[in-house]
Amino acid sequence: MRPLRPNPEVPALMRRYARLRTRAASPSTTDLAMMERALDLARDAAAKGEVPVGAVVYETTTGKVLAEAANARECEADPSAHAEFLAIRAACASRGDWRLNDCTLVVTLEPCIMCAGLIVNARVGRVVYGADDPKAGAVRSLYRLLEDPRLNHRITPMRGVLSSASSALLREFFRARR
Ligand SMILES: [Zn+2]
Repeated sequence: MRPLRPNPEVPALMRRYARLRTRAASPSTTDLAMMERALDLARDAAAKGEVPVGAVVYETTTGKVLAEAANARECEADPSAHAEFLAIRAACASRGDWRLNDCTLVVTLEPCIMCAGLIVNARVGRVVYGADDPKAGAVRSLYRLLEDPRLNHRITPMRGVLSSASSALLREFFRARR
């Protein structure tokens, strides 16, 4: 038998494994329930001619909903009226505090640069989102603003939660408009 020699690749493999394990965090049952709620809000938005995106902010430990919103850009004629932007502002207003460290944002679509900026500024504790947005996403697709080590607040986002329902809504909305 040949003597066992340490495999030089092992440390790198173990590091990779550790990374995969931390990335594989799965949504809680509360996250899933909130995503269902956000999807309902997105459906309501579509009925008003808005791009269907919905968002909920809840207290992570208690599950208490602080705010929810749907995209309202057309109705409000406001470029900042994205679902998660409205929900974060309403959550802060409801508590009289601009910090949301103990809260989770659940949103059906990957946040854009504006919303990712607000997430960082509001110190949102957790972010759970549905579909990726390859054209405007600033969490993973185009930028990784929530994980940028140069910023003073970092969040490991959870993506792909009920994403097929979110994608189907968006697809259906744009198909009907064509
Ligand atoms: Zn946005």
